[in-house]
Amino acid sequence: MHAADMGKDLEKVLIPEDELQAKIKELAARIDADYAGKDLLLVGVLKGAVMVMADLARALRNQVQMDWMAVSSYGAGTKSSGVVRVLKDLDTDIMGRHVLIVEDIIDSGLTLDWLINNLKGRNPASLEICTALRKPDAVKVPIDVKYVGFDIPNEFVIGYGLDYAERYRNLPFIGTLAPHVYNGQ
Ligand code: 5GP
Ligand code: MG
Ligand code: MG
Repeated sequence: MHAADMGKDLEKVLIPEDELQAKIKELAARIDADYAGKDLLLVGVLKGAVMVMADLARALRNQVQMDWMAVSSYGAGTKSSGVVRVLKDLDTDIMGRHVLIVEDIIDSGLTLDWLINNLKGRNPASLEICTALRKPDAVKVPIDVKYVGFDIPNEFVIGYGLDYAERYRNLPFIGTLAPHVYNGQ
């Protein structure tokens, strides 16, 4: 599908591109201040975090390194189960490193909870989380997320890295899908 044709699949734009970009710059300024003089490793979670990572990293003034993990949550449908499989591990040894996990969205928080425990076991100097979006359910799993872009309602969203059946990731804003997309009409 051509990008120009994606409009008919949209229900609404939840967060426009300029608001997303402004928020990412705010988060970047905080991160720059908090990690001043420190060597920071950004860990992006594939594939959803690609856009956040690219924008955040370029908005930072400090020099950082970037690495990626790909994980898959076992579980039926759109709900994650908390049972996680590593599809691609880090290339970097994070022992003694300051690590910031970069996420697209925290929904139940189960995936992130698993990831935090996994990375903590590798003895980083510090471990914090930055997420573009967070849903209300996430508060049920007690995860201390230091950098949150937007708290959003409990709706399935797409764009800015987030997909529905691997589509819509390249939309530069966050939106919801029209019902006909799910109904296959
Ligand atoms: P959690 O383990 O926090 O429930 O799920 C995290 C993962 O589920 C996210 O990284 C993302 O891949 C997916 N996810 C959760 N909510 C949404 C959503 O509203 N839209 C999309 N496209 N993916 C979501
Ligand atoms: Mg993610
Ligand atoms: Mg997905």
